[in-house]
Amino acid sequence: MTTDYSGLLPERIKGIIKVGNRTELQKIVKEANEKGHHISTAGLQHSQGGHTYYKDSVVLDMKTFNKVLEIDKQHKTIKVESGATWENVQEAIQPYGLALKVTQSQSIFTIGGSLSVNAHGRDIQFGPMAGTVREMTILTPTGEIKTVTRNDSEEWMKYVFGGYGLFGVILDVTLELTENDFYTIHTDELKTNEYEAYFAKLLKNDDTSMHYARVSVAPNSFLNEMYVIDYINTGKKDHQTPLKKEHGARIGKLAAFF
Ligand SMILES: Cc1cc2nc3c(=O)[nH]c(=O)nc-3n(C[C@H](O)[C@H](O)[C@H](O)COP(=O)(O)OP(=O)(O)OC[C@H]3O[C@@H](n4cnc5c(N)ncnc54)[C@H](O)[C@@H]3O)c2cc1C
Repeated sequence: MTTDYSGLLPERIKGIIKVGNRTELQKIVKEANEKGHHISTAGLQHSQGGHTYYKDSVVLDMKTFNKVLEIDKQHKTIKVESGATWENVQEAIQPYGLALKVTQSQSIFTIGGSLSVNAHGRDIQFGPMAGTVREMTILTPTGEIKTVTRNDSEEWMKYVFGGYGLFGVILDVTLELTENDFYTIHTDELKTNEYEAYFAKLLKNDDTSMHYARVSVAPNSFLNEMYVIDYINTGKKDHQTPLKKEHGARIGKLAAFF
């Protein structure tokens, strides 16, 4: 049996394979095609709802497929295998004074898992995390290994981002990076009906890099009040401050407001 992080919808599966290398993965996919077996792909299994694995499938556990392949400081990119977590990437790039262009509320997820659900970040200048992928290597459902970009006529990226693993296995990605800027945090309380004007003003302010907001679910201010959190770029760079470890993912999930 397997399930996602919620543990609510367990499903019987044929087995879990801890992924070792590309040749092995290719063999598994080709064999599954010949035998008519289903394959599911799993990262950290935090995407919940029971739709991420098939009954009687072979589950590919991508967490062991997690090497950093290349860091290009000059062009500000990193090539990394899809089972690595965002935290693994941050640890690798921080000594170079580099940072991810878009980050989620937590860095515990795998790259393959986040891109497959088309995860969003808090950055108000860029779109979803997938927007920072320059190139990607995938294993197609027929067992071919392809390196793809946005300019390809086959448009694999369009399907794979947000494709929940249905259009192939992401093997590695080349991500665009940025300078590791130092932000300060500004928080404020607002009435919900003030938010539209607040956000419009924020978009005109070049110094605000990231932003999120949470609407009150307390009985006495339900949906009428909210708080906002802005991350303001100080213009200072940071190479040295040690990265903090992620805690409280479960509490974050209970709150459920990314
Ligand atoms: C506390 C918390 C905070 C969150 N914050 C955010 C947030 O800020 N923004 C946001 O958008 N989401 C957020 N989420 C949702 C979370 O980002 C997604 O659920 C994400 O997919 C989890 O990654 P994972 O490694 O657990 O993926 P999994 O749950 O393991 O997989 C997700 C999907 O991707 C597929 N998949 C996994 N690896 C691959 C691969 N290598 N190739 C192809 N398909 C693959 C799986 O089959 C599955 O369909 C949050 C979730 C939690 C619990």
